[in-house]
Amino acid sequence: MDRIKQMKQLREKGFSYNSIGKMFNISGSRIHQLISGYSPSQKNSELLKAIYDIIYKRDKLTCQKCGKKTDIIVHHIDGNNDNSNLENLVCLCRPCHKKTHSPMSIEDIKKRTERDKQRIIRNYRNKIICDAWKRYKAQGLRMTELAEIFKLDTPHIFYILKENKKK
Ligand SMILES: [Zn+2]
Ligand SMILES: [Zn+2]
Repeated sequence: MDRIKQMKQLREKGFSYNSIGKMFNISGSRIHQLISGYSPSQKNSELLKAIYDIIYKRDKLTCQKCGKKTDIIVHHIDGNNDNSNLENLVCLCRPCHKKTHSPMSIEDIKKRTERDKQRIIRNYRNKIICDAWKRYKAQGLRMTELAEIFKLDTPHIFYILKENKKK
């Protein structure tokens, strides 16, 4: 399958331009361009400039999302840079434009935050286990007892201690 087709499919599945960019090792904005079929010569055309001027005037150089009046650019609503119908174009400020191109659902944010939370809890727990082992091994603490305290099985404790030694 060709690259651009692959990118389009990922985009349809809801991946952001930036995350697709990471997969192909190119920038998110370049992905945007490739997917929407942008070519530099096209963008420089006089016609397009004239169209953009109409949009700037129509939207009064104001971001149609947040109302800011600085750092304004023209955005293609359907993501297709070839579609320069006036109703497909809108003025956005750069920050709002960036948000438009990196849709991250609240579900994604929750999942990611939950993952971060679990990772930090796990790391912290492992640190406590390793410290306890170092401190109390000589006094007779056994792995089975650590396992009991942390509600893990003994091989898991063994694994955590072994991993810690490598560091
Ligand atoms: Zn804005
Ligand atoms: Zn855009």
